[in-house]
Amino acid sequence: MKYTLILVPGITLALLAISMPSCKTTNQGQVWEQELGEVTESPLNPGDAHKALNMQIDLIPDGKYGRRLFRQMKPQFITIHSTQNYTGDAFAHAKALKKGALRGGVCGYLCWHFTVQDDTVIQHIPTSERGEHADFDGPGNRYSIGIEMCEHNGNNQLATMERTAKLAASLMYYHEIPVQNIRAHYHWPRAGYKTPNKNCPHFLMEDGRPGDTWRWFVGRIERHYKRLQLFEDQIQEQKAKDAERERLKKMVQNWIEQVGEFIGLS
Ligand SMILES: [Zn+2]
Repeated sequence: MKYTLILVPGITLALLAISMPSCKTTNQGQVWEQELGEVTESPLNPGDAHKALNMQIDLIPDGKYGRRLFRQMKPQFITIHSTQNYTGDAFAHAKALKKGALRGGVCGYLCWHFTVQDDTVIQHIPTSERGEHADFDGPGNRYSIGIEMCEHNGNNQLATMERTAKLAASLMYYHEIPVQNIRAHYHWPRAGYKTPNKNCPHFLMEDGRPGDTWRWFVGRIERHYKRLQLFEDQIQEQKAKDAERERLKKMVQNWIEQVGEFIGLS
């Protein structure tokens, strides 16, 4: 009897352990957060943040290839991709886009706005024009800024993700894009595809779809964005203080003039 009592819970536990679905014990986002360190909460001048991106502008020629059709866009979303190209760096992608080497999409040529590698950002098309990177004629292409993260050998993946997070934060700030409009390529289904939702950016997905790691990445973007917004808030606060000081100064001046007039000084 005694043995049965001990044995039954033991067997139950063992059965439970076997029948439990295998789940990841580590959240990759938490590991990366530790490696990168927390984003500080101090205000950051958006101009300085932009400079630190080390952005180079190397546009596809106006009216050619991916910019063959002029299609204006007011960006409302930011779409994150990864290249899955283990040999080409950001410069190689810029070169390929500039000579129309990447075919596809609605206009016949693929194009997106930025490619990021560990130490550099390259811009390929203006943010006021639509790209061909997500979902043919869907909203991903029509309304979003496309960012590709490099994956070539020797590239520091963590530094690339962090530079991408900072770029996305800067774009959120300058284009007034809310955090809920940060999308993985996965979020834009491709009409007519057997697997419409692409596993992209694959290293931020779990089992091919957004999970904790993706949520960590969006959180990281938001924390970088908050620093820029904090700076903006402080500027606005200072402006309001200056305006109030000016208003009081004028009030006192008016009062002095009125008193002067009353006692016959002027
Ligand atoms: Zn993609």
